[in-house]
Amino acid sequence: MNAAYAGIDVGGTSVKSLVVDEEGKILDEDSRESHPDGIVELVQEVAAQLVERTPQISGIGVITPGIVDAEAGVVHYASNLKLSNVALAAEVAQASARPARLDHDGRGAGFAESFYGAAKEWASSVVVPIGTGISAALCFPDRVWEGETFQAGEIGHIPVYPGGEACSCGQRGCLEVYASARNIGLRYATRTGKPPSAREVERCLGKDPLADEVWAEATEALALVLAQLTFTLDPGAFVIAGGLSGAGDKLLTPVRKALSRHLAWREPPPVVASRLGAMVGRWGAAVLGCKAAGSLSYEAWHV
Ligand SMILES: [Zn+2]
Repeated sequence: MNAAYAGIDVGGTSVKSLVVDEEGKILDEDSRESHPDGIVELVQEVAAQLVERTPQISGIGVITPGIVDAEAGVVHYASNLKLSNVALAAEVAQASARPARLDHDGRGAGFAESFYGAAKEWASSVVVPIGTGISAALCFPDRVWEGETFQAGEIGHIPVYPGGEACSCGQRGCLEVYASARNIGLRYATRTGKPPSAREVERCLGKDPLADEVWAEATEALALVLAQLTFTLDPGAFVIAGGLSGAGDKLLTPVRKALSRHLAWREPPPVVASRLGAMVGRWGAAVLGCKAAGSLSYEAWHV
């Protein structure tokens, strides 16, 4: 029987799973509602059920947000999952009787997008998911950089406008305050009394000057941080992922223009939209599952 590999993408509102065969063909795909209370038990249950449905699973990958030590398989801290110092890889291995590996969700997703998705033609890239928050996966040829204390890529808290509006993290003027999907919606709602949604702002572009203003502040803040990353890392490309990437050229065109403006003496790297969309995390987790089984077959998957 051919081997299969499982990936579990653990979030505060859902636990999503994917099982693929040796060629990367999808055998099983599922999503369950989750709640931070009892998340470890839920992930164990999901892992056990996946193995029950597909007994040939020979490795399981798990990704979570937070401060994650991939090598040790430990979630040091994840506030929205209420986890603190949990050896999640070992818990999943025990529940499923299969080898398991753990990684950070952003880095797992970044690996998948850079390896199979929009950035695969470049050796290095920065994958930037924009949703409730903003982060970045720094994807280099052999690895996704995790940082000395596993906190690399927290670009949402780079102060773009020092002394600016307050961020939930306690600082002021963070990128996230102006450019996360959540805050784009909130900033527009505060000025107009309309429902707080980035989609609503996107819909009103070109018709409501306030929508244009909030959107321009977001794209300008984002471009400022991409300019800093360009000068620091010289990446092959930026991939915009997460919910806001659905805005497509309405988002990408002004970001590209502003980025060019901030890089007066060099060409900007291409700024492209994610290709793997909502499946990106699960693919990253499935790759981990493959690695947990000691296989390199993920290198030939057609995703
Ligand atoms: Zn902040």
